[in-house]
Amino acid sequence: MIALSGLSGKTIAVFGLGKSGMATLEALRHSGATLLVGDDSADGRKKAEDAGFPTTDLTKADWTKIDSLILSPGIPHTLPEPHAVAALAKQHKVEIVGDVEYLFRAMPAPTYIGITGTNGKSTTTALIAHILTNAKRVNEVGGNLGIPTLSFKPLDKNGVYVIEMSSFQCELTPSAAFDVVVWLNITPDHIDRHGDIAGYVAAKKMLLRNANKKQVLVIGVDDLFSAAVADEAEKAGHWRVIRISSQTILENGISGVNATLYHNGGELFSISSAPTLPGAHNWQNAAAALAATNALTNNGGGVDIGTINKAIHSYPGLPHRQQLIRTIDGVRFINDSKATNADATSKALGCYDAIYWIAGGKAKDGGLNGLEAFMPRIKHAFLIGAAANDFAIWLNGKAPASISGTLEVAVYEAAKAARDAGDENAVVLLSPACASYDQFNNYEHRGEAFARFVNAL
Ligand code: ADP
Repeated sequence: MIALSGLSGKTIAVFGLGKSGMATLEALRHSGATLLVGDDSADGRKKAEDAGFPTTDLTKADWTKIDSLILSPGIPHTLPEPHAVAALAKQHKVEIVGDVEYLFRAMPAPTYIGITGTNGKSTTTALIAHILTNAKRVNEVGGNLGIPTLSFKPLDKNGVYVIEMSSFQCELTPSAAFDVVVWLNITPDHIDRHGDIAGYVAAKKMLLRNANKKQVLVIGVDDLFSAAVADEAEKAGHWRVIRISSQTILENGISGVNATLYHNGGELFSISSAPTLPGAHNWQNAAAALAATNALTNNGGGVDIGTINKAIHSYPGLPHRQQLIRTIDGVRFINDSKATNADATSKALGCYDAIYWIAGGKAKDGGLNGLEAFMPRIKHAFLIGAAANDFAIWLNGKAPASISGTLEVAVYEAAKAARDAGDENAVVLLSPACASYDQFNNYEHRGEAFARFVNAL
């Protein structure tokens, strides 16, 4: 834990008592600051009270006495409408920051790597930490993924903090001065919170605001928004820009094309046998992780390519993202429960040829639209949840499909069909293209249920 100190005489409001809010309170426990603690949910307030932090109604606080509001990144402070607490902070010109801001203020010595982008953040964050660990570099990893940053261990100048930054956290970290920023890609997302795509890009660009000419920006240039940011950062001259691509072998930059990594057009090594990084999207993630760890300048410089190669091949992957659960008689059972929309599902469907596909749940706008080109790969679709009927209608004439109703039945039916077909390349793939809330608490709960049913086969 980071024990924040030197804050006596300050009054700090902490609003939003999820995982990062609770970690923030612990970090502030002996800081000397007067704490005003709040949450809209009674559960959140109870957690804080049980941990010894009295709560209060922050809409009734005297905001003229408050120095800082540490806001949970999930709570809106601009669009679609600022939360009442954020509005009060603004009205009284109180700074609104996130937990990562306090990490930067407390721990200036270590190297910081920040990872952002619409897709692939968690994978790339975990892969970078895995490479560093393999290179025997002390590191702490978390942020949006996994552990909150104020639960990190304190590090000295030889250590590296690897932090996944959502667009919300980018906005709430004014002191952010990452030594390496990894910017993977931009597609429209969270538009309700940022107004439009320009607002979303602008939020992420806040990560680049404190440049000192020594920092490295590793940036995917396969989408137009990110390509423009790369050009702009290069022109401004504050960043050493390393472009990455999974579509083109760049003459100047790092590429991951056809499962091979390249540096300035020269081949480095193949990743076709890296077990947990299939598909062009993962080549982008691998290229980014290679570029970021190879560009480090602290503690002996960049990680060497041989170590990166080994680490990419031993990377265990994250749960619920094309995670191999088990192989039975040659049939692989893959949990891609994190794929909650058609775009994410398309990444998995592109990786396999003989797919027994489990899909459905609470559908997103557009349903399965966009997946037409992958239908020849589908041997049979097993449909579950609220979307099952609509998906069956959509699939009619495109791929064989039937309604299983529940995940348990779908696993059983898909396993049987794959086994009966005797196809060596067969995969049973849970990649639902839907939210999980109709039958599960969240995507993790759904993925864990899938693993349980598969292990019971
Ligand atoms: P995030 O943390 O940004 O949500 P994850 O690493 O958790 O990203 O990956 C979530 C899903 O997004 C994956 O299951 C995959 O379908 C897709 N994905 C992963 N990496 C990329 C990428 N570089 N580009 C596009 N899609 C990706």
